[in-house]
Order: sequence, then structure tokens, then C-alpha cells
Amino acid sequence: ELEELKRYLHKPSVTKNGRVIKLYNNIGSVDDIAAVEANGAEGVGLFRSEFLYMGRSSLPTEEEQTAIYTKALKALQGKLLIVRTMDIGADKQVTCLRLKKEANPALGKRAVRICLADKPLFKEQLKALLRASVYGKLAIMIPMIISVDEVRQCKQIIAECKEELLKADYKVADDIPFGIMIETPAACVLADELAAEVDFFSIGTNDLTQYTLACDRQNPDVAYLYDDTNEAVLRLMKMVAEAAQRHGIWAGICGELAGNTALTSKLIEYGFTELSVSPAKTLAVRRAIAHTTF
Ligand code: PEP
Ligand code: MG
Repeated sequence: ELEELKRYLHKPSVTKNGRVIKLYNNIGSVDDIAAVEANGAEGVGLFRSEFLYMGRSSLPTEEEQTAIYTKALKALQGKLLIVRTMDIGADKQVTCLRLKKEANPALGKRAVRICLADKPLFKEQLKALLRASVYGKLAIMIPMIISVDEVRQCKQIIAECKEELLKADYKVADDIPFGIMIETPAACVLADELAAEVDFFSIGTNDLTQYTLACDRQNPDVAYLYDDTNEAVLRLMKMVAEAAQRHGIWAGICGELAGNTALTSKLIEYGFTELSVSPAKTLAVRRAIAHTTF
């Protein structure tokens, strides 16, 4: 089987009837980029930037972060790198932020909520990203969005960061795609309004499943209910893909479901044009794309 899969290594990701799909990888560190190359993915659809904050007692500085994003962009040699801004809280705890203990952390102050509540912290990450943007092809993506207002605030803060950097004589790329993760039912329902604000959507099926089915993704006692192929989850996803198409933006998937080859053709039929999977799944998904007609 491995030999058979290897035939897909240097092939484009395209369906039998000619639809080109962007097949990207999810990574959690710069070192993972070697696996992106080895498995022939066309870019990085989800760079989980939380690792920058994990396992340390002090916050990473803007300089430190700039160096890491620069290294990642250079290693990717022109392939797209979608960096998700810090998705901290809930299942991703860090010590350096000294966050309060919460009764319901998955419904608490996490991800973009932390960023909008602590603007200086958010701006450090965004400035690092903007400074690194001249070294490759960067896109910025925000997790856990539930409203248009959050998206506008993020865009405003990015604009502010850019202006401050340019004033201080830093160079910043001028065409940095801006996207959001669709991983709450609210974001699915508001997909049309949100699509009007951004360049792309990426569905986080892990959280979308958790929030749609009201089922803690980490609780083994309700694991029997946690099903990312549940009809309710799939219907929300289809709505999102259709809203994206109406607004002329692309929509992809970066949750675990993107790597489920039993669903590849269905997801493409829905209208998703990007799938971001762990490096080890790249070739199997490319083969599933190649076998798809609709
Ligand atoms: C998701 O929620 O599907 C996702 C891709 O993000 P994470 O698993 O890091 O929450
Ligand atoms: Mg998530």
C-alpha cells in the first residue's frame, strides 16, 4: 500500500473531473515543516501557534516570535503558511499567561477572547507575524469566532499593528490573506455576514463537533456522542461552504474530519476547496481526491 500511495507524492491534488483542491498540512512547530515537504503537501493550512506559549514561565517576545515565523516561512519556500493566532484556553492550557481557573473552560475565556481582552499581548503576536510576512507567503487566521464584531475588531487591530510597524520603518507584505476558523455554531449561522469580511474560512471540525453536539471533546464519558460525521455537523458545514461560494471566498477544513477519506468526495461536493490534514495523511487524502467525481 505504501508503494501505491507514493505514486501520489509528486502529483497535483485534483479530482477525476478536474477540480483542483489545495491539500495542506496541520503543524504544531517549525520542525514539522520537514514532514510537510516529505509528504508533498502544498502548504500549511493550520500552524497551531499555541506552542509558542506552552511549557514556559514567561511570554515569548515579539523578536522571538518574529524569528520563529520567519524561519517557518523561509523553510516553506513560497508555499502558503496559514498561522492561527494563539488558541489558548480550554484544552490548550499555558502557564505563562496565568489564566484564571474556570468552571467551563471550553465555554470560557479562550482564543480570540483572550486576544481581544489583552490587546498588547495580541499585538505582539500580530506584529511578529507582519514583520515575518516579507519572507514568504503568509496568511493570518483567527480561532473561535462567534461574531462579525470580533472579526472587525481583529482587522482593526491588524491594521493598527501594520501602521505602527510601517512608521517604525519595518517592511510588511501588503497582500496578507485574512481568514477565520469556523468552529462554533454561531459562526456557521452567520457565515454569509462573516464571508463578507474575510478572505477565507477554515472549518475547525473538532470544536464545531464539540459545540454543535454539546459534547466535551476530551471527556471519555461522552465520547460515544462525539462524532464529527454527525448529520447536524455536516449540514452546518455544507451551509458554510455554500455561503463562502456566494461571497467568492474559499472555504477549507482543518479539523480532523479533513483527513477522513471516506468523506473526501462529499466534502468536495459541498464546495470545500482546501483540506488541511496531518502530514502522515497527505497521500491518502490526495488519492481520495483523485478518485472523486461528482
Ligand atoms: C478544530 O477545532 O477542529 C481545530 C482544527 O483546532 P484545534 O483542534 O486546535 O482546536
Ligand atoms: Mg479548534
